[in-house]
Amino acid sequence: MREQVGRSCVVELRSPTAMQGVDGNDVYFPFASGRLAYDCVSCGAKCCRGHGFSMTNGVELVEQIKMRPSLPLFMDVLDREGKQWQVSNCAPGCFFLSHDGRCGIQVSSGYDAKPETCRLFPFNNMMRVGRYLIVAPHEELCPLEVTTGGRLSKASDHRALLDTLASQGVWARVPECVTVGQDVETVMMIERRIVELSESCLGTDDYLEFAIQQVACGVSVSASETDDARRCAQYLVTTANKLLGTAALVDYRGSNEFTRTMVASTPALRARFAFQRDRGGAVTTIAHRRVPVAMLAIYLIADAARRAGMQQITFQSLSSMTMRMRSLIGLMSILDVPVTWRSDVAIDLAAFRKADMQLHFVGVAKALLASTQLRQQKPLGEVLLEHAPSDALERVLFVKEAARCLAGKLIPVNTLTTNVSRKSAVRWRESAYRWALQRFSADLVCHAAWRGERHLLT
Ligand code: SF4
Repeated sequence: MREQVGRSCVVELRSPTAMQGVDGNDVYFPFASGRLAYDCVSCGAKCCRGHGFSMTNGVELVEQIKMRPSLPLFMDVLDREGKQWQVSNCAPGCFFLSHDGRCGIQVSSGYDAKPETCRLFPFNNMMRVGRYLIVAPHEELCPLEVTTGGRLSKASDHRALLDTLASQGVWARVPECVTVGQDVETVMMIERRIVELSESCLGTDDYLEFAIQQVACGVSVSASETDDARRCAQYLVTTANKLLGTAALVDYRGSNEFTRTMVASTPALRARFAFQRDRGGAVTTIAHRRVPVAMLAIYLIADAARRAGMQQITFQSLSSMTMRMRSLIGLMSILDVPVTWRSDVAIDLAAFRKADMQLHFVGVAKALLASTQLRQQKPLGEVLLEHAPSDALERVLFVKEAARCLAGKLIPVNTLTTNVSRKSAVRWRESAYRWALQRFSADLVCHAAWRGERHLLT
């Protein structure tokens, strides 16, 4: 059942680049209402310690400057109109933070007088896509907890958050995003269903099954598509085990608490991939139907952290891992797909500092050439398994580095087959070779010769 928050309000986006009113029904929170909680006292108000905040021109700012005439030294203007200011504070505390950990502005002038960043925090990670406003939790700073059982928190209550957003509008710049592989309306419908699904699956200890159910949330998903999703999820688990040492298929199930946190966090983590910043295609783009696989990849990475000794996996840990390992997650989400280079990208061997790693990457780069893949299609996972170092530690380092080099540069071979003629693919292969060879260092050539791997350079 889709939650209705009684959204007869409008959230005004006031930055000069946005300037629009968003209907309350078009505001999307990628988490269930009340499911996330935070406690500033036990956290020690870390968000008020050295991270700065933005402030909008107005009575409050004028008053603050009157009381603290040296404050402008720490302010920078953020927009052409001079309405938005960035106030940079340094650790261990904000200019307004008192010894007892309370906000001086809130104490003297009330909650509504606080700067926008602080009023909305931690739900101030906003994006626009079409007519929708996505309001997600901050990626790293707040130690959000997943509430248990029927206990819900007012801190993440959708109605309360919407009221806060609507009361003063949003002055901060809200970046424009796009959806990849699906239209905006379909993506929004699926994402809203995922929030409901995550609530109904909170008790599961089987994230792989939950990942497959996310696929079934899509419109008109056939039984064969669900089978494909299962095959691709299992391929990921098996291949990631061989490449990265994550848990094997037989023991992927985690503890209830860990899996529960992952299930509850899934809508917010999905939002990072479902709505992508439009930077001219330069970012790691994951097609929307691949997002469940990306979620399973995050689960495997977080499970590896648990096995490495991390005692507690929270929303904050999942969110940080997603941010830091985005390119690896992108790569893991297409391991079962035969892919090839995009025709307009460079093959950057120089990104690997060590010559032996460069050599391994030459093998991957060649295997992913359009002409090679058109001859015999191989899934990316197979290509990596063939060319990655055999030593376990070296292999993990190589795959992580390769993920960064490949991010945003690959397309599925089947799109190439339909769009590009074989002849032009071969022509492109030659130019790619030339480009790659230009970047071979003398060290790399000697290293290849020494290892008897001249074939890699021809
Ligand atoms: S203005 Fe208040 S809430 Fe904002 S960072 Fe400073 S002390 Fe914290």
